[in-house]
Amino acid sequence: MDVATLTIKGAHESLKRGDFSARELAQAHLKKVEEKDKDVHAYIEVFDDVLHQADVADRRLKEEGEDAPSLLGIPLAMKDNILIKGRKATAGSKILEGYEATYDAHVSKKLKEEGAVFLGRTNMDEFAMGSSTESSAYGATKNPRDYTRVPGGSSGGSGAAVAMNGALGALGSDTGGSVRLPGSFCGVVGLKPTYGSVSRCGLIAMGSSLDVIGPFAKTVSDTEIIFDAIKGKDERDGTSLRGGSYQEPELKKKYTIGVPREFLKEGLGEDTLQAFEASLSDLKEKGHTVVDVKLPNVKYALAAYYIIMPAESSTNLERFDGVRFGLFKEGPTLLRDYEETRSAFGPEVKRRILIGSYVLSAGYVDAYYHKARAVKELIRGDFLSAFRDVEAIATPTSTGPAFKIGEKSDPLSMYLADIFTVPANLVGIPGISIPHKEVERDGKSLPVGFQLLAPHMHEKTLFSLGKHLLNEDF
Ligand code: GLN
Repeated sequence: MDVATLTIKGAHESLKRGDFSARELAQAHLKKVEEKDKDVHAYIEVFDDVLHQADVADRRLKEEGEDAPSLLGIPLAMKDNILIKGRKATAGSKILEGYEATYDAHVSKKLKEEGAVFLGRTNMDEFAMGSSTESSAYGATKNPRDYTRVPGGSSGGSGAAVAMNGALGALGSDTGGSVRLPGSFCGVVGLKPTYGSVSRCGLIAMGSSLDVIGPFAKTVSDTEIIFDAIKGKDERDGTSLRGGSYQEPELKKKYTIGVPREFLKEGLGEDTLQAFEASLSDLKEKGHTVVDVKLPNVKYALAAYYIIMPAESSTNLERFDGVRFGLFKEGPTLLRDYEETRSAFGPEVKRRILIGSYVLSAGYVDAYYHKARAVKELIRGDFLSAFRDVEAIATPTSTGPAFKIGEKSDPLSMYLADIFTVPANLVGIPGISIPHKEVERDGKSLPVGFQLLAPHMHEKTLFSLGKHLLNEDF
């Protein structure tokens, strides 16, 4: 079996027909991981019971036959900030070393019901703070397309696992682009669903008003299969959308796509812009209409995000006090206990705790946090009015292809990689990164993602357009 050409959709049919077993499928992926992961380091841990999980799936496949769920026996990778009962979860941090999840995240529960096979935990920037997976306490992940480059972040391990054919799909979390950016850099599909469409229960929190769990896969159809399996109301997440309020769009053959031209200037590489234009031309040739849209306040999105996100992250990280989870370092006093324990956070996490505490502090909360929230509302208004005229908005996913490991050593240049992805998180709308075109760097062809955004709950529009772009059955 050649794992490189397998998709979830295809493997599902083969499993049902008995072309191969779930055990053989899992073995083939484990072999690929063994071959590649010493260089790529997509996984923090490969689980030791993968074949046992696959055997359970094989028994179910025999019993359920044609009715087998789409993910039964499908090997998936999970980002290290998503809880699976009884397994470790560290969010890429030393502070959670040794922590074992005491319950299943909603998504893990749903995937277990489907019968998916969990291959392992994937590497990530510490507490999902970063765009390159270099800030993981467990070492950097490399881009499977070029080992001198980053896979994107923060879900770089998940993106790389799928790109190196070391999993048929994976889950990541997207607070400001962390699924779409690794999707773009690794050349796989990455979806950030509508805020609230996938439960956050069991996701180690970063920015609670922005966080959402999303899938990676090799095709748009596979991404849709995983999304359909994990979405839905969960009583344990107060912001999870009720089934009844989930209004899916009518599917069409021809869409109107808006392009916010004046937003596409900031740091965007010439060849990446050309690749983006080529994707737009392709969509036009396929009968879709492309028009200009105005999003006058979206230029403030990155600044607003880098206030709101640290404010929420610093609050969420208060719980790591050495008493309740993971690491505990004892000092001579209670205060020293906290200081000793919390010194295990890496520099990027500390930076955000400081920024977050500052923007929320009594003297500055109006000038920073409240103002950023007001800006977020303006951006939301911009998108809502743009969506009166268009069904989707297109931008590149990032300003260029994967950058070199160590290239972005100052935080600000790293933050700029998120310029096109953060608006969707602030507004709560869904976004997808589609690997459509490539650009050249040092004689190598590297993927650049084409990002499509749609109104709240309109993931189906993204899937439909994405499939058309990639010539999947439309
Ligand atoms: N790169 C962004 C950040 O560092 C996004 C992170 C994310 O989506 N988890 O905050």
